[in-house]
Amino acid sequence: MTIKAVRGVHDILPSEAVKWQHVETVARQAFEVYGYEEIRLPIFERTEVFARGIGETTDIVQKEMYTFEDRSGESLTLRPEATASLLRAYIEHGLFVNPKPVRLYTIGPMFRHERPQAGRYRQFHQLNLEAIGEVHPALDAEVIGVLMELFRSLGLADRLTLAINSIGDAACRPAYREKLVVYLRRYAAELCEECRERTERNPLRVLDCKNPRCRPVLDGAPSARDSLCADCAQHFLDVQDYLKAMRISFEINPRLVRGLDYYVRTTFELTTTELGAQNAVAGGGRYDGLIELLGGPRDPAIGFAVGIERVVQLLPESYGDAWEHRRPFAVLIPIGDEALKRLLPIAQALRVATPKPVPVELGYGGRKLRNELDRANKLGVAWAVIVGERELAGGQAVLRDMKSGSQQQVSLRVLVQKLIALSSEVGHD
Ligand code: AMP
Repeated sequence: MTIKAVRGVHDILPSEAVKWQHVETVARQAFEVYGYEEIRLPIFERTEVFARGIGETTDIVQKEMYTFEDRSGESLTLRPEATASLLRAYIEHGLFVNPKPVRLYTIGPMFRHERPQAGRYRQFHQLNLEAIGEVHPALDAEVIGVLMELFRSLGLADRLTLAINSIGDAACRPAYREKLVVYLRRYAAELCEECRERTERNPLRVLDCKNPRCRPVLDGAPSARDSLCADCAQHFLDVQDYLKAMRISFEINPRLVRGLDYYVRTTFELTTTELGAQNAVAGGGRYDGLIELLGGPRDPAIGFAVGIERVVQLLPESYGDAWEHRRPFAVLIPIGDEALKRLLPIAQALRVATPKPVPVELGYGGRKLRNELDRANKLGVAWAVIVGERELAGGQAVLRDMKSGSQQQVSLRVLVQKLIALSSEVGHD
């Protein structure tokens, strides 16, 4: 029996990987022009990093973590999100001594034991960006601005909606939470099982419920916005003003609460109507108390996570065509071992040609010419170079135009220059 991949994980095949590379390249560029630097983090941590960092009452920590004991009996967890790990590193390496805000980003896989369905995976990938050490609302606007710039560069901004909200802070949220719990308990009979359970455990999350049965009650629920303290209300107004100054359009969604415990004040989400139920492409928010909770200084911070699978899904199919251009430009076909040895340095020279390398494939000298030509045809290369015993003796190669089938002789001494010239003619890249 063949072995298959684990449920909920997926392979990224070469034709798709082109899109992934594109998203990552555009993201690095968009982030770095704002001064964000890459940090690379381990994919597993001590379990307590997430238990403390994400919050014991969240769905992620309660039900979704890949937690295991290693051989020394230590409890470890595959990271379900990046922020807690990033802050662990921020504290551990004393990055807080740098001028604030410290701007960081990271790219990589996350792991959550969720129910797999279209667009929801157990290993998925995120771009994460965090700005640490500044409470000014202009930083909230900057972070949202970077997110929008990324999607503008990808040509997707028009197909996404930005929603923002403020969920208050340690000063005003407890009172709101109380108000919400009283309301939800009053209507418990009209809510789904999960909402009833969340009312006690993580009441803000109830507002996020997608069950249509719960909507009428949730639509009438008290809104966090009406309970903001003066500071939070001002912060939220300032964020909106800066966004307007940046010509970023947004809507306010009073039910946007986000799943993790650590968020305060600004929360935001980018959604699309094109991906069915899994409509969130990116989400983020402020988490001013989290660094202290993890044992670090009292640095406020804000960040976002983008789901790369969902971005890739939104990219037009034509991005896959970029793959065509990466195929080898020519296949070099030696007949016999001497010809192979003569072609080895030629293939090398082509692959390191400046300013533009010429991608080529080199045969092994053992296969029949007909099979090699068949293969070259299937690869869709423009040219085949054939060197048999006779050509070798005469210092020549046969250059075959794979489209027309016409052939010409080229001296082996100028073969490299000839192929470089041909490849620059067609603008191969
Ligand atoms: P979160 O960390 O839950 O706020 O998620 C941030 C983004 O990651 C979401 O907006 C999604 O685009 C993506 N995401 C979260 N969970 C999954 C998943 N299980 N599969 C694929 N993408 C996901």
